[in-house]
Amino acid sequence: MLIFLNNYTADITRQLLYRSKQTSLLDKAQLITSSFSGVDSLNLDNTAQVISVLGDLNVTRVVITDAEGVALYDSLTQRSAVGNYVLFREVSEAMEGQNVFYSHYESGLLMSYAAAPIVLYGSPIGCVYISDLDADLGAIIQALERNILRISLGLAAGMVLFSLIFAVITSRKMRRILTSMELVREGEYSHKIEMHGSDEYGRLAGEFNKLTDRLQASEQAQRQFVSDASHELKTPLASIKLLTDSIMQNEMDAETMREFVADIGNEADRLTRMAQKLLALTKAESVKEGAREVVDLSRVIGQVFKLLIPLADQREIRLKCTMDKDCAVLTLEDDMYQIIFNLVENAIKYNHDCGQVHVRLQRREDDVVLRVEDTGVGIPEDAREHIFERFYRVDKARSRQAGGSGLGLSIVHDLVERNFGEIQVGARDGGGAVFTVTFPYFDMEVEE
Ligand code: ADP
Repeated sequence: MLIFLNNYTADITRQLLYRSKQTSLLDKAQLITSSFSGVDSLNLDNTAQVISVLGDLNVTRVVITDAEGVALYDSLTQRSAVGNYVLFREVSEAMEGQNVFYSHYESGLLMSYAAAPIVLYGSPIGCVYISDLDADLGAIIQALERNILRISLGLAAGMVLFSLIFAVITSRKMRRILTSMELVREGEYSHKIEMHGSDEYGRLAGEFNKLTDRLQASEQAQRQFVSDASHELKTPLASIKLLTDSIMQNEMDAETMREFVADIGNEADRLTRMAQKLLALTKAESVKEGAREVVDLSRVIGQVFKLLIPLADQREIRLKCTMDKDCAVLTLEDDMYQIIFNLVENAIKYNHDCGQVHVRLQRREDDVVLRVEDTGVGIPEDAREHIFERFYRVDKARSRQAGGSGLGLSIVHDLVERNFGEIQVGARDGGGAVFTVTFPYFDMEVEE
């Protein structure tokens, strides 16, 4: 590319100089030929006379020939061509009636040749030939070519240097990213790459840092989960140990013994429920493509009510239901069942005796909205943002008494999210809690 540029520039410069030389030499040749106007024929005398009138033309050589190409005048005194045939290509071409110019540059000299016919009544009667060897212009061309070469070499060296620096910088950046990746692979999740800039490497480092942030957060969440889970499991296990110790150490009547054993059974039930919920939480996060089916939520609500009516009846809580027709959602039936079951069970558990639970199912434009409303204790405003966290309970004692584990709502939250829904919690006018879950409506006619 650089060689091409170099040659191209040198060529253009040479052409420009040739063109100026051509104009100057042809002008001089024209001047001589026009000096012969009015002359009938050319001979030694009149050619010498014309040349003497013209004075110094400032060229290397001037030759004037007759129509045959025999020299009548030659400005060279040594090796003069006068009387001899001049066999230059320029002369024979000029004899055909046209002006001729040739030029070339060689070892510091610009050599130019011009010839023009001397015409009488439309036919050439002789020819003017001029040659000029110009050392000054030759030197200019030489200097120009040298400068262009120097600039090209300088540019080439600059580009090589720039490429080298660029390669060193990028490979250093790449090495830093690789080292950081190795550190994170070894478990150092808090490691960050300090790399600024908006180039690809800067962006890669930014993405890498975001990834390690997420890894760190997820590792922290996992640790927190294990510690919370073991803490939760410890409590019923400690109760069981306490109860068995009492049975072993104390003499007790059959009635008290039965009470103690029943308590042990209750704690075991609590452990089972907790284990089931923990399993539900750790279930595969993503749902396989094609595993979803069209589920009519009103049917699921019916099944949940059937199972929870005995629990509601124990405390004389009324279960009420208002449902729009055609509330289909593309989902997993099991997920919907768990969501509705947990919400309605909570609405019963945290309700007052003789209270009410109202489940509403509505179609709103492109959504299906499920509202579970109760007349219970409600959820304080500052607790609402934590309500979906694992093991979070507003009132620990109440939750334990109701057989809760603090996992139900976090399971609900995960299931709602993986079914492209949204869940919100609020307060009911007149006391109690309201949970609103929104799912995208599945329009069978459009889909078919
Ligand atoms: P739990 O097994 O303790 O019920 P959840 O995750 O289902 O766990 O609920 C977390 C906490 O949110 C409960 O301990 C309770 O304090 C509160 N809560 C959930 N639902 C309701 C509700 N309908 N009314 C009042 N408080 C509720």
